[in-house]
Amino acid sequence: MRIYIHVPFCSTRCRYCAFFSQALGRNADAAASPLVQDFVDTLFMELAHWADRYGGVEVKSIFFGGGTPSLLPPRVVGLILDRVAKYFTLAPKAEVTLEANPESLRGGHRVTHFLTAGVNRLSIGIQTLDETLLRMLGRPHKAADSLHAAFLAREAGCANIGLDLMWGLPGQSVRQWLQTLKDAIRMSPDHISAYGLTLEPGTALERDVEAGRLFLPPERDQSIMFMEGAALLEQHGYLHYEISNYARMGFQCRHNMGYWDGEEYLGLGPSATSTVGQRRWTNPASQTAWDERVRANTLGNDVEELSLETRVLEMLMLRLRTASGLRVKAYREMTGRDFMRDHSQLVQALHENGLIRIRNGYLRLTRSGMLVSNSILSNLFARTVDVLRQASAIGGLKPPIKEKPEHALTLGEAVLAGGPIVRDVRWPKT
Ligand code: SF4
Repeated sequence: MRIYIHVPFCSTRCRYCAFFSQALGRNADAAASPLVQDFVDTLFMELAHWADRYGGVEVKSIFFGGGTPSLLPPRVVGLILDRVAKYFTLAPKAEVTLEANPESLRGGHRVTHFLTAGVNRLSIGIQTLDETLLRMLGRPHKAADSLHAAFLAREAGCANIGLDLMWGLPGQSVRQWLQTLKDAIRMSPDHISAYGLTLEPGTALERDVEAGRLFLPPERDQSIMFMEGAALLEQHGYLHYEISNYARMGFQCRHNMGYWDGEEYLGLGPSATSTVGQRRWTNPASQTAWDERVRANTLGNDVEELSLETRVLEMLMLRLRTASGLRVKAYREMTGRDFMRDHSQLVQALHENGLIRIRNGYLRLTRSGMLVSNSILSNLFARTVDVLRQASAIGGLKPPIKEKPEHALTLGEAVLAGGPIVRDVRWPKT
């Protein structure tokens, strides 16, 4: 089991963000905020609620996402981890990640205190090192804060540091993006996430682009950003292990690997999603409504039973994001059908165009394939749905062999859970 804890507070709201969080204000003291105190009280109740059902289960990783979890006082993070350890069985060397904004790590030896509390991995959201772009995104920090935060984290002895970056930003050139990557590499992180910007409906950034006040880079430039960025990172020893994620050997994010492998996860806090067995539920995206649910003991009442079709599509989507790819046999284990036979024409076309590779029973996207993953997946999904529905109609669909879902996560939920963002990349024109 994996545990995700959604901490719904930020100092200010970024202009592109659709995650649920509440702005506490610049330089606000989270320790003194009644909202934060209420959140922690309710979180403890939610933990106790799930401990009744899943107490003692082994927890392989904990991920504090949000929001800006690094706004929490380190002492509080320690108390939360103590509760998790009390109710569940923390695996030896469990990965404990804290998402952090650069400015929130300043002063008071905060990084040292987070490490003492039990955090062993920091994921720092620097996004870009260009001051103009930082302002355009509405980020609450400056480039110098990012450099300082990475330095502080290393100096405090953090042995696993990830940096989150974004490309495809309005006004961003290929040269700017590659320079940001080079500067980030100089900070010697162990992990780099490089997400293409997704314009989320209802955000200020989306409105600016829709109204023609800001312009996304041309598609050709975005393709170059992805391809050249990946090549640059690999030249510097970062393995491209998932569409948007790169790591030094042995530093892949184990928590997110769990999502992509279809492992069970419990999501705590407002808006967090859980998937246990073949059931999924999402907490309300409101601190008040979440608190009411916890107190009324009605968490997880509105579960979604995951259909076989949903689970197969999610497995395809999640596994094809990773460098190791789809284990073709997993499709047979879930459906009783042969993947290569069901998708022979598509597989042949993709192979001839250099978009997939098949080796040792795994089918994976090449880098060019990753660039157009959305097009590939939509074709694959359409064919899979047809095949499964036809087989089901004539009674030819074998029930899944495994009790547990092989893979169970929608894209939106992966994003909410701190996971990756799939961009709507089109076929390259060159
Ligand atoms: S991007 Fe991160 S820091 Fe910015 S508002 Fe969203 S959750 Fe908060």
